[in-house]
Amino acid sequence: MNQIVIRKATLLTMEGTNGCKPFEADLLIEGGRIAAIGENVVARSDAKVIDGRNRLVMPGLINAHTHSSETFFRGRYEGMPLEVWLLYAYPLLMGPVIDERLLYLRSLLLAMDSLRNGVTTICDDFFDPPTHDLSRLGAAFRAYEQAGIRANVSSAVMNVHTLDALPYAREVLPKALQDKLDFGPLMPAGDYIDYCRSAFASLHGKPERLRFMIAPSAPQRCTPDMLAACHDLAIEMGVPLHTHVLETKTQAVTGPEFYGKSLIAYMHELGALSRNTTIAHSVWVSDADIALMGAAGCSIAHNAVSNQKLGAGIAPIRKLLDAGVVVGLGTDGVSSNDTARIFDVMRTAALIHSTSGPDYERWIKAEEILAMATIGGARSAMLEQRTGSLAPGKAADLLILNLNTFNFFPLNDIPKQLVFSENGSSIETVMVDGEIVVQGGRLQTVNEDDVLAEIRERVPAHLAAHAELEKLNSIFHVSVAEIHRRATAQPIGFDRYAGDAMR
Ligand SMILES: [Zn+2]
Repeated sequence: MNQIVIRKATLLTMEGTNGCKPFEADLLIEGGRIAAIGENVVARSDAKVIDGRNRLVMPGLINAHTHSSETFFRGRYEGMPLEVWLLYAYPLLMGPVIDERLLYLRSLLLAMDSLRNGVTTICDDFFDPPTHDLSRLGAAFRAYEQAGIRANVSSAVMNVHTLDALPYAREVLPKALQDKLDFGPLMPAGDYIDYCRSAFASLHGKPERLRFMIAPSAPQRCTPDMLAACHDLAIEMGVPLHTHVLETKTQAVTGPEFYGKSLIAYMHELGALSRNTTIAHSVWVSDADIALMGAAGCSIAHNAVSNQKLGAGIAPIRKLLDAGVVVGLGTDGVSSNDTARIFDVMRTAALIHSTSGPDYERWIKAEEILAMATIGGARSAMLEQRTGSLAPGKAADLLILNLNTFNFFPLNDIPKQLVFSENGSSIETVMVDGEIVVQGGRLQTVNEDDVLAEIRERVPAHLAAHAELEKLNSIFHVSVAEIHRRATAQPIGFDRYAGDAMR
C-alpha cells in the first residue's frame, strides 16, 4: 500500500478535547487512511515525503448542506426572501430539464470549487424535479467520483401540493394562478421508498466515499406517511434524514397554521426526530423546539451566509449547542450564498452571533466554529467514524496550508486566524482518502480547463432558457410577496430576525 508521510508539520487534529491545540508532529498515511501521528514516525523508504515545516495540517472541511442544482446561479439574485427567491431559483412552472451532461458538469463544478477551497465532504441535497431518475442521480455520483470528493447525495422529495405547503396561499393566489399549478397526482411514499432502495442498491457506497441519504424536503412539503417512511428507511440504512425546518418566519407560521404546533413539535410527534435527523437552518426554533431537538440528539446545518442573503435570520446556535444539538456548517446552494466556500461561512458564523446579545461570554468562539466546520459537520453527515478529524484509522481527508501567508503573519493564534483571517487562499494541498486532489491551487483529478471550456460553451443556452422560466414564474411574485408580508406580520411569541436579544 502507498505511503505518504508529512514531516514536522503543525497539526490541528480536531480530535478529542485538545483537538484545537496545534502541535508539531509527523503524520503517516497508508492506503488512504491515517496510519500514525507522532514524532519521527517510521515510514518505508519508498514513502512519498512532504515537508511539513511552516505548514498547517488540518482536517478537510465538511459542507453540511448544499444543493448542486444551484451551481450555475452564482450571483444571479439578490434582495429577495426565500419564498420569493424560490420562484426564480426553483421555478414552479418548469421547462425542459437540464440535460444529463450539463447536470454532470454542474455537479463537477461544485465539487471542483469545493475542493479548491478546502471542502473535502459535501452533503448535496440533490433536487431534480419533476421525476426521480437513477441515471440522472448517477450523473451527480459520477461527477463526485471523478473529482475525488467525499459526498452524501440525496434525491430530495416533496409530495404535498405547493399551495398546501405555504400558509395563506389558497387565500392569496387568484384562482387562475392556482389552476396553473395543478400537475396531477403526487408521488406516494411507497414509490419514493422503492426509488431510494434502488439508489442504495446501485449507487450508495460505490465507491465507499459516496453515499446516498434520504431527503424529504421539509415536513410541510411531505405527507406524514412520507416523513415517517423516510425516517424508518434512514434508520434502517444508517444514513441521515436530511431536511429543511424553520428557515424563515413564513415557515414559523406554517406549523401553527397547518398543524396547530411548531414544525419541530410536528416532526417529534411523527417520530421523525432522532440521531439520524439533520435539519438545515433551524433559525425560527423556540426554546421548546430546541429542547426536543437536543433530547433527540439530532443535528443542524447552520447556513450562516445563506440565512443572511435570504433575510431569514440568525439561528440560535448557542442555545442549540447548550441543548446538545450537533452543529455543522453549510453553504446552502451557490445561488443563496454565492460560493461553495466553508471558510466564508466560518467567518460569518463567528461574527453574526456577537450581535445576538450583550452577554459576550455566550458569543460563539473560533474553536467552536472550527469544530462545526470539521467534526461537527462529519457528525451531522453521520461520517464521524470516517472523517472530520485527524486520528489513526480515519480517512486521510486533510488540508495542508502554508503558514507563511499574510493570513497567518504574524502568527498569533492558529484557530482564531483560521476563522477570522483565512479564506482558503493559504491552501497548498487537499487530500481525500489519501489521494492528492488539489495541489498548488489546481485540481489533480480533472482537467480544469477542459471542464470550464465545456461549461462555457453549454451554459449560455441553459441560462437563457432559465431566464424564460424566470419570466414565466414572475406571475406568482406579487402573491408570494403578499404571503411573505402576512407571515412576517404574524406574532409567534418571539422574533428571530435580530437574534436572541430581541426575544
Ligand atoms: Zn437547502
